[in-house]
Amino acid sequence: MTAYDPNNIFAKILRGEFPCHKVFEDDHVLAFLDIMPRSPGHTLVIPKASARNIIDIKLEDYLHVARATHKIAAAAKTAFNADGLTIQQFNEASGGQVVFHLHVHVMPRHDGIALLPPASRREDAKVLEDHAAKLIAALQGT
Ligand code: 5GP
Repeated sequence: MTAYDPNNIFAKILRGEFPCHKVFEDDHVLAFLDIMPRSPGHTLVIPKASARNIIDIKLEDYLHVARATHKIAAAAKTAFNADGLTIQQFNEASGGQVVFHLHVHVMPRHDGIALLPPASRREDAKVLEDHAAKLIAALQGT
């Protein structure tokens, strides 16, 4: 497997070199909205540790991501009045991974509405602001 590249876009977001619509942060993880959401509220949960994917992440770091994913999933269901949720995590190009810093996708779902294809449309910043505010409010209720 290729080594971790500290210049990947999510590493830049973690260092504050690139903006994001932040939803949640603690000592171990950051959660922010996907810039090309496949459903409204599509959120990415990432470790602060420099891990490429599930193959190289330390178990402790992965467990922090799992805990945060559980929390974000509950908030996303509430914030978007979702019927369900799709949780995905891709590993290496052959596994569908495009950005090589481990991340978990949390996508609120509604009955009869398909996900958009990956990277099909960059969402308007105002919409992302509104969705982040909804998620933050729901997280405050957890
Ligand atoms: P994956 O690597 O699991 O295939 O997906 C990478 C995800 O990162 C995609 O859903 C894509 O829309 C998202 N993405 C790519 N570049 C950026 C970015 O600069 N900011 C944010 N917030 N998301 C991004």
